[in-house]
Amino acid sequence: MAGEARRIVLLGAPGCGKGTQAARIAAALEIPAISTGDMLRAAVQAGSALGERVGGILNAGELVDDATMAEVVTDRLAQPDAADGYLLDGYPRTQSQADTLAGILDAAGQELDRVIQIDVAKDELVRRALGRQRADDTEEVIRKRLEVYEENTAPLVDYYRDRGMLRAVDGNQSIEDVTRSIMKELEAGG
Ligand code: AMP
Repeated sequence: MAGEARRIVLLGAPGCGKGTQAARIAAALEIPAISTGDMLRAAVQAGSALGERVGGILNAGELVDDATMAEVVTDRLAQPDAADGYLLDGYPRTQSQADTLAGILDAAGQELDRVIQIDVAKDELVRRALGRQRADDTEEVIRKRLEVYEENTAPLVDYYRDRGMLRAVDGNQSIEDVTRSIMKELEAGG
């Protein structure tokens, strides 16, 4: 659809509803939702060399190193289905990853259209995270993920705001209303 952002990053803490919204927005825009978390979990499941390397890191709620993530994302964004746009869910998560993404886009003569931050209060995040707890998620790992987010990823909100790309959306609404709010921000020009 013309006039809508086509290269999009979703930012938000674990439990903010990012994965759910990524799928809904990507379907509406007919672009792939690219979740680095899903890609890494698939690698672990498949028992690939990458999976072997990152399995322990995922289980601990820590971040896979930036160089490995650069390889994963560079390969994925070079796939034909990403040629006309994509929505990134879970990448970038560090300043260095944001720089890598800028480099990939630059090399392709492309720009990031929008960064959407889904804003949810911290107490609510913990409550939700405990609610959707996977079998191998202990409360400790959940808290670790939030901590890692605050330290490494939250600063990207300022990074993208400074570049005029950021739009914040209230994540304390129904799933449908959050989707509507995001779509509105993606349709708005400038
Ligand atoms: P997610 O499903 O996005 O919460 O990701 C699950 C896990 O995969 C994270 O807790 C990290 O261990 C790892 N991971 C996913 N994306 C990244 C990334 N961009 N950088 C580093 N680690 C990541």
